[in-house]
Amino acid sequence: MTESYDDWGMATRAIRAGHNRTGEGEHSEPIFTTSSFVFNSAAEAAARFSGDAPGNIYSRFTNPTVACFEERLAAMEGGASCVATSSGMAAILATCMALLKSGDHIVSSRSIFGTTNVLFNKFMAKMGVTTSYVALSNLSDWEAAIRPETRILYAETPSNPITEVGDIAALAALAHSRGLILVVDNCFCTPALQQPLALGADIVIHSATKYLDGQGRCVGGAVVGDSKLVGEEVFGFLRSAGVTMSPFNAWVFLKGLETLHLRMKAHSENALALALWLEQQEAVERVHYPGLKSHPQYELAARQQQSAGGIVSFVVKGGREQAWKVIDSTRMLSITANLGDTKTTITHPASTTHGRLTDEEKQAAGIEEGLIRIAVGLEAFDDIQRDLQSGLIG
Ligand SMILES: *Cc1c(COP(=O)(O)O)cnc(C)c1O
Repeated sequence: MTESYDDWGMATRAIRAGHNRTGEGEHSEPIFTTSSFVFNSAAEAAARFSGDAPGNIYSRFTNPTVACFEERLAAMEGGASCVATSSGMAAILATCMALLKSGDHIVSSRSIFGTTNVLFNKFMAKMGVTTSYVALSNLSDWEAAIRPETRILYAETPSNPITEVGDIAALAALAHSRGLILVVDNCFCTPALQQPLALGADIVIHSATKYLDGQGRCVGGAVVGDSKLVGEEVFGFLRSAGVTMSPFNAWVFLKGLETLHLRMKAHSENALALALWLEQQEAVERVHYPGLKSHPQYELAARQQQSAGGIVSFVVKGGREQAWKVIDSTRMLSITANLGDTKTTITHPASTTHGRLTDEEKQAAGIEEGLIRIAVGLEAFDDIQRDLQSGLIG
């Protein structure tokens, strides 16, 4: 960060942080579509390359539009450094490659994004990095899984799809008592609802593809943290490996960030109303939503998050057959596994996002055959409710 944004509220950071107006006096952030930058002299080029002088060099690792997004997201998360990446998976890869070496070990919450599981179990394992999985909300499970070679605790909260909530401050205290790094994937809450760094986490991961964009347009990601781990180590990996965010995508995400706090509030309001309504339905066995008093970590979520977020899942009576019937009865909701969009999406985790899990793994993760996940969008609540009602009642 080139400035301190300490005095600015979240909404102001979301709208104004990071933009250094050019001589043209533009009001909206410009898109710099240039692969390289020119220098005034050979000496200036040498100084930039050696790092003695700040400034742009080449858009694999320096671009003003991308830098504006990085500075804005860092300000919102309360981190000193942010590295924007080509996708959320690239953000997780860059973090692992920068901070881990062969022989190291990760302790991760069990119900993480499915592709993160594949990255850890297949590709990180191939590089000699192993992973143990634990129950997100069970601190003694985390503690018991730590080995002498553990380097990272990796958590995603709330979890997908059953919205289990992990105690970030407690995990940070555990990590730091053992000299470990706590990484939190903050995709579901975004900095508008949860600031993991303020709770003690060392690194925040984002899939910008989801709520940061918020309108389902671009794929991107980010790593936020301090100037050493992120500003030097993760940045160093990006510079060499080129998992770079494009300036155009950075600009789309910048525009997304400006309304993030409003959208997250509206997603949460629609989701809470839907969760409360679903709880009343005869055809519904159980509803998972951190904003419900029936949620096992209701109080933790109320303390740790500004609101409960946009993801609701529920179990219908009658297993897969009934779940598919509810999904196929909708006319407006989008049947897709994506989330964080203005458009409400509906999915059957057991046969899609979590279809690769074994029966035991599904059971441990709470992925029942009757489970349906809704990423609640910003349409009129009555229309979302009516669309679900036909399959639940009819
Ligand atoms: C989508 C997602 C990712 C991966 O992000 P991509 O942008 O699709 O690569 C990581 N974590 C969570 C929680 C996600 O939902």
